[in-house]
Parts: sequence; structure tokens; C-alpha cells
Amino acid sequence: MLIKNRNESMELVMLKLLHARMKLTGSEQQHHLNLKKGLEGEMKFDSLISNLNSKFLILNDLLIESNKTTFQIDSLLITQDAIIPFEVKNYEGNYYYQDKNFYICSTGKEITNPLHQLNRIETLLRQFLQKHGFNFSIKGYLAFVNPEFFLYNAPQDEKMIFPPQLNYFIKNLNMKPSNLNSLHRKLADLLIQAHISESPYTRLPTYHYDQMRKGITCAACQSFLLSVGERIALCDQCGHKENIQEAIIRSVEEFKLLFPDKKVTTNEVYDWCQLVQSKKMIGRILRQNYQATGYGQWTYYK
Ligand SMILES: [Zn+2]
Repeated sequence: MLIKNRNESMELVMLKLLHARMKLTGSEQQHHLNLKKGLEGEMKFDSLISNLNSKFLILNDLLIESNKTTFQIDSLLITQDAIIPFEVKNYEGNYYYQDKNFYICSTGKEITNPLHQLNRIETLLRQFLQKHGFNFSIKGYLAFVNPEFFLYNAPQDEKMIFPPQLNYFIKNLNMKPSNLNSLHRKLADLLIQAHISESPYTRLPTYHYDQMRKGITCAACQSFLLSVGERIALCDQCGHKENIQEAIIRSVEEFKLLFPDKKVTTNEVYDWCQLVQSKKMIGRILRQNYQATGYGQWTYYK
């Protein structure tokens, strides 16, 4: 049973908005790309293990705080006899393994050892479970999900699952017994309760209203090339069509997310959306979809 699903992190949502509307530095762009790729890999893994959801309890994307330490588990399976945390990697291209470390072939650069990450998760999870009186054995895996990943000199380590091994691994899991009882369910509840929704490590670039590109972006491709008609906004880039009211509400939500301290007024939204010709229409959409506060020219919306 799928107990907890995965959402796009707020950090990724915000970076996507910022990326569309301002120039990010090289390292910010790289960070954005890494988060995006990480999520793609995790979603791929989700669909692989979704076959198991009739047998085991599945919890995706947990962020647990315990003893002032935070640790993230990409996916976690609760099976009859073991708790299985997965660290999912969407690495792409050629890497090599040497002296128990991972390197990128093209640059020779060492990367953070994903096995160490997995060990850390196992240790912290074990402590967390013991603290709450659970005594399950923990057996974590490192799952490489990208078929275009290759590791030279890979060790024969049963903790690592390489792309060609994934299906076989899942097939084997599927043959395990699955008599789950109330203790397993209790453990799932505990993990859900302990889950904190936002990482304390989120770092966003600094940004100001004035440096943002204004306008409505395409919901599908984030391009600004929209032809806005009476009722429909049409993306010249990808052809995506959106009802104009929905597009404006989406833009207002982006505005609120990026500038939580600014008041949502007709004038602000008019400036933010740019392309929309009629202030009257914006006023009407705000009145219909938000709660008005204040009076006359001082009206703002929540
Ligand atoms: Zn588009």
C-alpha cells in the first residue's frame, strides 16, 4: 500500500519560477538541474516499486528529524521482516570506482560517496527506530536508475543495484512473504508523524521584484511567448492552451509564493501579468477567487 507519495519540493518549485524569470548563476542553474534530475530519477524508481504496493507499505520521500539531525529517505519499504530504505541515484554517463570512492570519468572529479550516504541513513534510521521501541532489521540499497549510467571497476556489493539489475531485484522482492500486522502499520504512522515537510537546508538565490521578468509563463514549458486572447492563452513555443482565468490565477499564486510579503492588488497583478490588457478583468478574477480586504483603491486580496 502506498502510504506516502512524493511531491515536488518547495525548493524545486521556487527555483523553477526563478529560473523562468531571472538569470541564475552557473552554480544555481546546476543546483536546479540536479534537483530536477534527482526528482526524475526518484519518480522512475517510484513507478518501478509501485508493483509492490499490494504486498508492502511504501513511503516515498521522507525527511526525518531525530536528535537534531535530519536525514532524507528517497523511498522506504516496510516488509514483513525488514525495513528497506533506498537511496536513489539518477547519475548519467561514465564513472569509475577506485579505493572505495566514486569518480566521474571525464573530469576525474570525486563525488560524494553514495554508499556513505546510504550508511548514514541506515544508522540514523536504526537509532530512530530503537528510540521508539522498534526492533526491525534494516537493509538499505543504493539504486542507480538511469540506463545511461556506467560504473567501471564496480565492486560486487549487494547494496548496489545497477540499472540492468533493477527488474530482477524487484521480482525477488515480490516473492518475499508479506504478512504485515499492526506493528508494521504503527511504524508507518510513526514515520509519517516524524516527517517534516521542508528541508532546513533550502537555499534560494536572493531576488527582487524589479529584476524579475514580468508576464504570464506557459504552464507546460515556462516560456513567455503567449498569445493572450479573450479567453485563451496560447503558447507560441509549445502550443499549450490554457484558460486565461486559470493562467492568471496561476500567476497570482506564483507571485504570492515568490513575494509573500507583498499585497495582492489589482495593480500589482496587472504589472505582474503584463500581457493582460484589461485591469477590469484582473479585478473581476481577483474578486471571484480571493477574499477581498480593505476598500476602494486600498483593496487587496488573500
Ligand atoms: Zn509552452
